[in-house]
Amino acid sequence: MVAGSPSKEPTELPDEDASLEFGNRLAQSIRSGIIYFEGLLGAGKTTIVRGWLHGLGHAGNVKSPTYTIVESYELSKKSILHIDLYRILDPSELEFIGLAEQISTADLVFIEWPRNGEGFLPSPDFTIEVRYKGDARLVTCSG
Ligand code: ADP
Ligand code: MG
Repeated sequence: MVAGSPSKEPTELPDEDASLEFGNRLAQSIRSGIIYFEGLLGAGKTTIVRGWLHGLGHAGNVKSPTYTIVESYELSKKSILHIDLYRILDPSELEFIGLAEQISTADLVFIEWPRNGEGFLPSPDFTIEVRYKGDARLVTCSG
């Protein structure tokens, strides 16, 4: 199996560039679906999404949606959402912002902190879990 393709084996990502490259490689095989990102604050979830979006052809900045909740992109005729539910205290808040509707019309959806939206989110096609390993990170994909 190619490095960076969905695999249950943990992959070690020694630095930020490795995380960007990991996301970039995933972009070559996964271009649609619901992707959950699990992992603590600062684990590098957004960094992988950044690499993924670059791999899909996005040239600009990738802003963390921590405050805006949702950032959207249109790339090669695909509509992509990057969602961060870190600040959501109650999943019913998602109803208020109409998130389910937005998700249902998107092609590819990245969701950080999906547990904060439990009951209001579609189930994932892939889950990417990022863990600390000293200064590096370990990433596991399942789905
Ligand atoms: P999260 O979205 O999980 O909160 P971020 O993607 O914002 O985390 O990354 C937090 C910090 O971790 C950033 O400073 C980033 O440069 C760093 N980082 C990302 N990937 C790695 C890695 N593989 N090894 C070491 N540091 C990393
Ligand atoms: Mg983040």
